[in-house]
Amino acid sequence: MSLILDLASDVLGLILPRRCAGCDNALYRNEKDLCGMCLEDLPRARMLADPQNPVAQLFWGRVPLEGAGALLRFNRGGKVQRMLHRLKYKGDRHVGLGLGRLMGEEASQSPCYADVDTVMAVPLHRRKERMRGYNQAQVIADGLRETWPLKPAGRELMRVLHTSTQTKRSRIDRWLNVQEAFTVGKSSQLENAHVLLVDDVVTTGATLESCARALLQVPGVKVSVLTAAYA
Ligand SMILES: [Zn+2]
Repeated sequence: MSLILDLASDVLGLILPRRCAGCDNALYRNEKDLCGMCLEDLPRARMLADPQNPVAQLFWGRVPLEGAGALLRFNRGGKVQRMLHRLKYKGDRHVGLGLGRLMGEEASQSPCYADVDTVMAVPLHRRKERMRGYNQAQVIADGLRETWPLKPAGRELMRVLHTSTQTKRSRIDRWLNVQEAFTVGKSSQLENAHVLLVDDVVTTGATLESCARALLQVPGVKVSVLTAAYA
């Protein structure tokens, strides 16, 4: 089956060259979703080994987390923004899987994430997930498990209020908007787990904070967070 898929992708590649998610140049056959140049030159945040990194500091005094960090720095108009745009709005899951694999490689080596055992994506509201066809954070989490074999969480965490698109809202509006928007369903599966919450990007941290608060209602749960980018 995979031979057939490989052949199919080679044939497709002859007609329609695959494009690099960072610079849009045509990819060579051995390149996955980023060309060698872009992969080499990703704006790595290199913060995962530092417990006092800027993403961890974002949550200080808000919610107790074990570890927190991001793989890349988000630069407006740059490569990382293009990659996340392709993942969220162009249906390109390969970008998310690739980012997840890089996140798994780096985080699994970090002492800050030493005893994580379960990975969970920040949920989208079901309606939004149906519209997009997938949850981009789940795609990243799936990629992460390819390089860091953590147990996948089920759908224990649910988004209970529909939150409209947040990009044009002020920080305080966003915070009010996602408050109490998550709840934990069948929690027994999560008891005493150390959950790694995964999302595409962290800006104010409001969404991750709400998720973590809901998860911390479960007895014995510890929470760490990891995102592809930090804005
Ligand atoms: Zn490129």
